[in-house]
Amino acid sequence: TEYKRPDLLLKDEERLLKLLASRDRPIQIVLAGKAHPYDLPGKDIIRRWKAFSRRPDVEGKVVFIEDYDLGVANQLIQGVDVWLNCPRHPWEACGTSGMKVLVNGGLNLSQYDGWWAEAWNPDVGWAIRPGATFDELSGSNNHDHDLSDMEQLFDLLENEVIPGFYDVDSEGIPRNWVGRMRASMDQLTAAYSANRMVREYVEQFYLPMAEMGSRRSSETARELLGEYGEISRHWSRLRFNSFNTSEDSGSQTFTVEVYLDGIDEQRIAVELVAEDSEHGPRTITAMQMKHPLGGSPHTYLYECTVPPRPEGHYTPRLRVRDERLNLPLENPAILWLR
Ligand SMILES: *Cc1c(COP(=O)(O)O)cnc(C)c1O
Repeated sequence: TEYKRPDLLLKDEERLLKLLASRDRPIQIVLAGKAHPYDLPGKDIIRRWKAFSRRPDVEGKVVFIEDYDLGVANQLIQGVDVWLNCPRHPWEACGTSGMKVLVNGGLNLSQYDGWWAEAWNPDVGWAIRPGATFDELSGSNNHDHDLSDMEQLFDLLENEVIPGFYDVDSEGIPRNWVGRMRASMDQLTAAYSANRMVREYVEQFYLPMAEMGSRRSSETARELLGEYGEISRHWSRLRFNSFNTSEDSGSQTFTVEVYLDGIDEQRIAVELVAEDSEHGPRTITAMQMKHPLGGSPHTYLYECTVPPRPEGHYTPRLRVRDERLNLPLENPAILWLR
């Protein structure tokens, strides 16, 4: 698929041909993958690789295996020395296939994205554009990014990966390469495994859900449904009346007046949210109800004190509060101060 950029190496055919032509340091590229029938750019990339692989000077050095499936993947992950995954940052959700290579002693050469952004360090493999952040994308376009990633990929192959593979001692053993294989298997296999995935699903999601489910009688369910309807009827009329800041030495105090249209104030959480920035990580602070506002029905004053950040960085919001509910799944209603 396009965001995976399987054609990154094809963007500089000259440079690729030079690598493939090497007599004393030969390489072979094995490709596999299917494009969705409606994915025209994806199908075009496969076509270009197939055409490239049929060039007389390339034949046998670039191999495209058709019908990628579990069986092919099973063989591939056991056979490769280096697994290449070069998605366009930050589109990689995970990159599972790189993890499958670990137990087989393969090394990863991958975009610093998805799992590799979490797992990579210089001892275990190679990263394209290490340390990349989301901010890096603003003010730049895909084309420039693709080209600079392509440059880095070729640099890594030419200067580190291929020389490293052929750097053997008198017994013909690539000691440094084997050291990397050991570090990769040692540091990563346990943390990036199906065991961990299943354990985390069970401990963090399935067991808490089962526990919650066992506490929910049909009686509570009916009660919750009633309250859900009640809150929905009022929700569109909720609003923030005023939002004020006062600065003290080393802290800021925020107060906000909230109109709840008759909803029980116990059922509403007022929170102050700041996004991740150079001023600190993302924070969500619960605001405390100080008192109902005399003279204005259904209106309450909330307050909290937080470390200072520039104006506009903190924004209050309202959400439903109920320990019997799985939130925000069972009631995603949210109201931000605009
Ligand atoms: C592992 C695997 C995938 C997923 O690969 P990603 O790197 O996560 O995109 C897809 N298809 C097959 C057949 C696989 O074995």
